[in-house]
Amino acid sequence: MSKLLSLEEEPPSLAQAEQSLVRTPVATLRDLNANGLTSPVQLARAARARFVVSSVSNEFRKRHFPGVKSAEWNDWRWQNRNRVRSLEQLERMIHVTDEERAAITRHHGPLPIGVTPYYMSLIDPVDAQQGLRRTTIPTLSEFDRSVGEEEDPLGEDGHSPVPGLVHRYPDRVLLLVTNFCSVYCRYCTRARLVGASGERALRKGDIDRAIEYIAATPAIRDCLISGGDPLSLDEDRLEYVLSRLRAIPHLEFIRIGSKQPIVQPMRVTPTLTKMLRRYHPLWMSLHFTHPDEITPEVAEACGRLADAGIPLGSQTVLLKGVNDDVATLKKLFHALLKIRVRPYYLYQCDPISGSSHFRTSVDKGLELISQLRGYTTGYAVPNYVVDAPGGGGKIAMLPDAVIGRDGNDLLLRNFRGAECRYPDPDGTLGKNAGDGRSNNE
Ligand code: SF4
Repeated sequence: MSKLLSLEEEPPSLAQAEQSLVRTPVATLRDLNANGLTSPVQLARAARARFVVSSVSNEFRKRHFPGVKSAEWNDWRWQNRNRVRSLEQLERMIHVTDEERAAITRHHGPLPIGVTPYYMSLIDPVDAQQGLRRTTIPTLSEFDRSVGEEEDPLGEDGHSPVPGLVHRYPDRVLLLVTNFCSVYCRYCTRARLVGASGERALRKGDIDRAIEYIAATPAIRDCLISGGDPLSLDEDRLEYVLSRLRAIPHLEFIRIGSKQPIVQPMRVTPTLTKMLRRYHPLWMSLHFTHPDEITPEVAEACGRLADAGIPLGSQTVLLKGVNDDVATLKKLFHALLKIRVRPYYLYQCDPISGSSHFRTSVDKGLELISQLRGYTTGYAVPNYVVDAPGGGGKIAMLPDAVIGRDGNDLLLRNFRGAECRYPDPDGTLGKNAGDGRSNNE
């Protein structure tokens, strides 16, 4: 039976639409005509054109992809097919510095260069120090190795009972379903894996084995689906994973970690959100880095996810020269709240090989949190954490709050540095120096 396309549904790809045009009975075409649209191709284009395109992206599209209409630009598969993957492509779009050129030429192996046209439109073509540019375009500093850096600083590979699964905490697992990302971040914790040996999703057999392990381990109540980027999978593959996980009775909680809504916001299609909402409770951790990422497109993508009932949190990596000043962080966190994303974690950058140019001191992170806490909405202040090398887990870092004790009173320092007293006759906190400095999570 033929099916009339609804404007609320995901339109077919243009190729699919072309095929369905051939097969579409006259009656359906008449219905389409009633909407002022003469074919499924037009309907598909009209639906994609409804996704917002900012003036910045629009100008970039017209300049670098002059034959491409906004409907095609808003097709996430088109964005994947047209990623910037080479020096030659990059040189057509930005003024590449000698250092960037040397780094791209020298690079081989995992973490290749990869930038969607959409995200490319946000990159400054002239200023090599722009935050988004530094996080996506390689520099020679990547080849410097410093003491304490490792390929797998979190020791994930040593906690992997079956391929694709990391089981580090008793009640939680990490399921790495693909090594593909639309955009490769130069500071990625999984730089050793992403984009390696071709870009590919985890094989179905490995996914099945990982799910069987979870099903056979009743202590596991929480699964984080990550990668690579899980939202780079098509709906059928992602739904296979979600439906099998949801069928495990002891698995209470499913999370997806993704940067896709930020680097390819048009990926958040009505079809995707319709599918995702079938698997609640489902939470999502989004990976925001800089306020330049908050665009009308990203606001629309996050709005669609939030409207689908998915709680959204942001995990931001603290990066030297990119976001390590209070004005930038405050701007980012305030902007996130406006698009219904809760700033959740501020991560100390992991000591992956070649990351020293991105890593700040931990003092710097604590100083930034001190400048935020109390000075803005509590929801806008994330937990600052160090993920302990070797699989030690996340350690929440807090500025000193406990000054000491005076009899029954606990002496505390508020955000302005003023001393405050709290009646705490049953407590002992404050007797020892350093209380309150950090909290193991
Ligand atoms: S999106 Fe995530 S997994 Fe992919 S390169 Fe960036 S940090 Fe790594």
